[in-house]
Amino acid sequence: MTKIFNDPSEFAEEALAGFCDVHSGLVRQVPGGAVRRHRPASPKVAVLAGGGSGHYPAFAGLIGSGLADGAVVGNIFTSPSAQQAYAVARAAESGAGVVFTYGNYAGDVLNFGMASERLAAEGIQVENVLVTDDIASAPPSEAEKRRGIAGDFTVFKIMGAAAEAGADLAEVVRLGRKANSLTRTIGSAFHGCTFPGADAPLFTLNDGQMGLGLGIHGEPGLFDTDLPSAKELGQEFVSRVLAETPPGAGDRLAVILNGLGSTKHEELFVLWLTVAPLLRDAGYTLVLPEVGELVTSLDMSGVSLTVTWLDDELEPLWAAPAETPAYRRGVAVAQTGDRSADATVDVAAESAFEADGDSRAYAVQCVAALEATRHSLHEAEGWLGDLDAVAGDGDHGRGMVRGIDAAAAAGAAAAARGAGAGSVLTVAGDAWADKAGGTSGVLWGAGLRALGESLGNQETPDAGALAAGMSAFTDRITGLGKAEAGDKTMVDALLPFTETLSRLVHEGVELGQAWAAAAQEAEAAAKATASLRPLKGRARPLAEKSVGTPDPGATSLAMIFTVIGPILTAGIPAGVPSGATQAIPAQPADARS
Ligand code: ADP
Ligand code: MG
Repeated sequence: MTKIFNDPSEFAEEALAGFCDVHSGLVRQVPGGAVRRHRPASPKVAVLAGGGSGHYPAFAGLIGSGLADGAVVGNIFTSPSAQQAYAVARAAESGAGVVFTYGNYAGDVLNFGMASERLAAEGIQVENVLVTDDIASAPPSEAEKRRGIAGDFTVFKIMGAAAEAGADLAEVVRLGRKANSLTRTIGSAFHGCTFPGADAPLFTLNDGQMGLGLGIHGEPGLFDTDLPSAKELGQEFVSRVLAETPPGAGDRLAVILNGLGSTKHEELFVLWLTVAPLLRDAGYTLVLPEVGELVTSLDMSGVSLTVTWLDDELEPLWAAPAETPAYRRGVAVAQTGDRSADATVDVAAESAFEADGDSRAYAVQCVAALEATRHSLHEAEGWLGDLDAVAGDGDHGRGMVRGIDAAAAAGAAAAARGAGAGSVLTVAGDAWADKAGGTSGVLWGAGLRALGESLGNQETPDAGALAAGMSAFTDRITGLGKAEAGDKTMVDALLPFTETLSRLVHEGVELGQAWAAAAQEAEAAAKATASLRPLKGRARPLAEKSVGTPDPGATSLAMIFTVIGPILTAGIPAGVPSGATQAIPAQPADARS
């Protein structure tokens, strides 16, 4: 349990600031995360690790010579926003390109992907290397769906060493992907982890039980078994990773026995005493093994075994020196480039808004809708988190609250400066995505931006324009997240909402009634997701555990749409729209199954 904190929602920021102060000789805090204190003496590929907080020393603790050039630091267990990833890349980039490397989670893929698009548009070479080492999270036939856990470290280490030695971007990426394809991890959890400020862990295990196949975001193991002896646990781990030996793999292994946060080093050494002989008996030479904490999960009690099959090009990179705040190996190359001064906080220029009077009046309704959403989400924060903890990482309530707090403040500030409805919503969407991170954050942010762009700043929308705006909201979310009906995501509530709203508006039903009926459909569809198995997002590996619980993102979406309906539809003229229905994606028959 976390005992030392002030405001729990500021915990990750304060921890990062403290870390950067302690290690100010090696790292420098920048908007979105941290980078090396010294600029490279000549252009080098910037290896940027990333993900949520709560995994120390991953990811910021691994910034330094021979390892990462920077880390993008999200909130606890929440992917950083695209804006954060972009800002860290701009701070770290030195002319030879950027590679983002991170565990395979939907929110990270979306946010780093959007940052990459923006960097590429500015002429910066950028690549992404995903880590997929967790053998428990998908079968070998779907290895690309696996999540990244402690194997993050091996992949980062190999890429960091390659970049330090002067490899170009394509080569660093090739080596990183190769290392990932040769890395396997299996873990188990003995006790769940607890968010700062929370009074209960994200999952619990019965006495004498262990969860096999842990995640690193407080996701419980895939199944529970009786707590084995150290010897039995070691045998279980070794047999599971060796069962996945890649074809043609060599006989030299990099090995990590990783503690998840509150497992003692002594316990790891006891386990090592089983693991190492079993691997050696299987014919392997163990190369510079690591036993300790490299990728943690707050205060979780648990352990994982990672093996990477080395070859002639990977082994020297695994063995190469590194010097970072949390990890040292050998004597690293001294950093000779210029020391960068601490960043000053950019104060964004206040842009002027152009809008006509009607749109400014409707902007006030939009601000009120954001404010009502803020109230509801604050009230619902706890139980939305509980829904997400069943098979996900428990952060949905907190992420939504962080997002809406930022969105409501940004929207109100824009309206006060004369923004029309379109600008209020785009500004609010950007603030939401930036502050919330995570999968839902980037999707809500992008959806609100699309709604704002669709409404524009010229006039009060009529019923058709609002329905078309909600279609734009929907299209942006399905376009980005690629979820389909039945995948058990927020899209399951969103599609019936938009379909019903457009149909009723097209039939000439009064807007307030049409919206209310559509919101009811969304509520029913959100409830009906309880019977589904998640096919997208963090809950996917724990699909069976999720059955019986509604999807958190669908639940919050339906709740929000219900709350904002009367506010957004008040005073809007009815009218049969032309064309709003064409914008509606066809709804597959199983959408509400
Ligand atoms: P994270 O999954 O990054 O922890 P949240 O917990 O805030 O983010 O949000 C989880 C919700 O995101 C899920 O309940 C689901 O509704 C939604 N979600 C996950 N993946 C997708 C996707 N690809 N498209 C649409 N929604 C998704
Ligand atoms: Mg979550």
